[in-house]
Amino acid sequence: MATDYYAVLGVRRDAGQDEIKKAFRRLARELHPDVNPDPKTQERFKEINAAYEVLSDPQKRQVYDLGGDPLSPNGGGAGGFGAGAAGFGFSDIMDAFFGAATGQRGPRSRTRRGQDAMIRLEITLEEAAFGTTKELQVDTAVTCTTCSGEGAAPGTSAQTCDMCRGKGEVSQVTRSFLGQVMTSRPCPQCQGFGTVVPTPCPECAGDGRVRARRTLTVKIPAGVDNGTRIQLAGEGEVGPGGGPAGDLYVEIAETSHPTFQRRGDDLHCTVTIPMTAAALGTQVPLQTLDGLEEVDIRPGTQSGQSIPLHGRGITHLRGGGRGDLIVHVEVQTPTKLDPEQEELLRRLAMLRGEERPSGQFAPGQQGLFSRLKDAFNGR
Ligand SMILES: [Zn+2]
Ligand SMILES: [Zn+2]
Repeated sequence: MATDYYAVLGVRRDAGQDEIKKAFRRLARELHPDVNPDPKTQERFKEINAAYEVLSDPQKRQVYDLGGDPLSPNGGGAGGFGAGAAGFGFSDIMDAFFGAATGQRGPRSRTRRGQDAMIRLEITLEEAAFGTTKELQVDTAVTCTTCSGEGAAPGTSAQTCDMCRGKGEVSQVTRSFLGQVMTSRPCPQCQGFGTVVPTPCPECAGDGRVRARRTLTVKIPAGVDNGTRIQLAGEGEVGPGGGPAGDLYVEIAETSHPTFQRRGDDLHCTVTIPMTAAALGTQVPLQTLDGLEEVDIRPGTQSGQSIPLHGRGITHLRGGGRGDLIVHVEVQTPTKLDPEQEELLRRLAMLRGEERPSGQFAPGQQGLFSRLKDAFNGR
């Protein structure tokens, strides 16, 4: 523990927060690098910032008073506050005090992270149900091989900008409540990079990137749905100046199926059967996602009744297991009867005492549930 933070700010050990803040403001005004750029003063400026960071934070101040160093990366010592307690750093104070404009010093890097990219991928219902592996053609920016992402033509290199001498910003003296203050703005000649590229790479026009088509293999997990996004880390565009690549998102679009409609992880379809089959019961073949299966229509099945085939739906994306396949039954009444058929039906009606049925009236429109209930009650 070398630095006496109280001495740095010129305050007593029992100084209140107001006093500390006042002392810091006064010194910061004097020693700010925009006002006073010589290296020694800048060292002092860092010191007062460190002192203020510690003494303005009651927790850190306590650590310091107990003999620890709250700014040390090795932890707080006596106070027991680790590096985690050092919640904000040097530049945060600068931002808070002088505004974000002076927060970042020096030229900005030409290297930046690339953008994320997204492509749509159409898959079938079967592929969504069981998962699949797809080959994708992706058109994104990749690092230019001619200049290795540097942006300068082969045999040339970026030069230090002569307008800002490599600092990336140009300064201007203005008067403000802090007194005479130098404000900075990005250098117009180099756009703040601090360097200029006199001869840009002919392949990428100085961007360091070119567009290229790649083939990617993507594993699509079982259970994806319309709009599901699969993240492929680092497969997006590479950044300017040879920066790291962004991510690629594959958005799933499910094509419609001729037989099944998906609702969540359940599948729905309708089967139309003749009246006689509904009365007598039958089996109808259905091509499910798992192959050909017989749907069992029990004798006395009503129109609107549904038959669930458990576990024949879509795989749950999380947790495994599968949804159901639900077959909705629609009973068709015959419309064209030849004389023999009509005779048979009349005979059947007579046998059942249904030649002049009174009908069962109920208020409103009876839905599927009441029909199901009726079926249960044997009516
Ligand atoms: Zn290039
Ligand atoms: Zn410049």
